[in-house]
Amino acid sequence: MKHIAILGSTGSIGENTLAVIRHFPKSFKAVALATHSNIEILLKQIKEFRPEYVCVADREAALKLRSRLKGNLKIFAGEEGLEELVSKSKADKVVLAISGSAALPPLLKAIENGKDIALANKEALVMAGPLVMKMASRNKIKILPIDSEQSAIWQCLEGEKYGNLKNIYLTASGGPFRKTGRNRLRKISRSQVLKHPKWSMGPKITVDSATLMNKGLEVLEAMFLFDVPCAKIKVLVHPEAIIHSMVEFIDGVVIAQLSETDMRIPIQYALSYPERLANSLPAIDFYKLKELHFEKPDFGKFPCLGLAYRAATALGTSPAVLNAANEVSVGEFLDKRLEFISIPRVIEKVLNKHRNIAEPDLTEIKAADSWAREEAYNIIERLN
Ligand code: NDP
Ligand code: MG
Repeated sequence: MKHIAILGSTGSIGENTLAVIRHFPKSFKAVALATHSNIEILLKQIKEFRPEYVCVADREAALKLRSRLKGNLKIFAGEEGLEELVSKSKADKVVLAISGSAALPPLLKAIENGKDIALANKEALVMAGPLVMKMASRNKIKILPIDSEQSAIWQCLEGEKYGNLKNIYLTASGGPFRKTGRNRLRKISRSQVLKHPKWSMGPKITVDSATLMNKGLEVLEAMFLFDVPCAKIKVLVHPEAIIHSMVEFIDGVVIAQLSETDMRIPIQYALSYPERLANSLPAIDFYKLKELHFEKPDFGKFPCLGLAYRAATALGTSPAVLNAANEVSVGEFLDKRLEFISIPRVIEKVLNKHRNIAEPDLTEIKAADSWAREEAYNIIERLN
């Protein structure tokens, strides 16, 4: 029986993780759940899964939860509460399914406490990849990817020598605007962006999928997870999203990982690794699947992808700056204070102003993150 903590249990990945746990009650137990403020869903989860600890990052919502619960379930509150929950819980594995940079402190705390990580969140790794990976190796913990492309690359590389890797083909569905003309992107509304053709996900990553920043963040994520330079990571648009990524070796052999587009599949593998568990999830029917398509991404139409490669080449504090400027821009877009096409413009302006620091420590990363957020807000204010 593996004991699992889920940070971000009320979100899309969190709920899918609980669906996997529900399906395998003899293999997994949810011992700790954490959320930001959605106590209605959390209450249902507490009733069903009976965790030993919960955390609500929003303090007011934590008080409300306390008043609605009988018994003495330990409830942590606030950002520090997330770290306390990670340290005190007897989880062997922490599923990191919080969205955005808020995931970085509990990620570091989990590594410090020797817990294996099932990593869905990408922003924390993008911000501080080299530090996170170094700390993980020092503490002998595994970082098992949940993001479907990273899970695919991980599975393709199993048992292979990394020195034999030639290229990674990181696949992308292309998002909802793959076929939309560049001029029409000017008038894109929030509801058009939030309709992803292949995946149902939280709002932040859905916007990132529409700008292709999600793929850019994944280039950085793959670099850090697999210690591969960005020059060897090629983005490949594959609208069917059946091949979740591929690895090409020096002898010309390409290994691909294929499965239906259902996040429970990579989540289950990150939980069950190194075992595989039989499930009843949808499987590919190759007799029905007649064609798979591939295209080069359009860097002109989706400037976020090029900006991510720029940060991936510069490294240092640049990925943290890219991520912070993107988080602010996406938040402002969701709040209807920024147009869709202005998202890359804001990020580019912030990157242009940034003085990169090579090999930063955590304090320098946090400072770069705060600086980039302030710059992004200032730029957006001037635009309005
Ligand atoms: P959602 O927006 O659906 O869920 C986010 C979860 O994090 C919610 O439980 C939310 O709580 C919680 N949360 C947000 N901020 C905080 C905070 N400051 N402290 C504590 N909890 C917080 O996001 P997704 O599930 O879609 O994505 C989660 C992460 O996984 C992202 O980094 C995303 O990039 C990555 N990912 C997601 C995929 C997907 O298919 N959804 C695929 C691959 C990667 P509350 O509900 O209370 O707001
Ligand atoms: Mg992905």
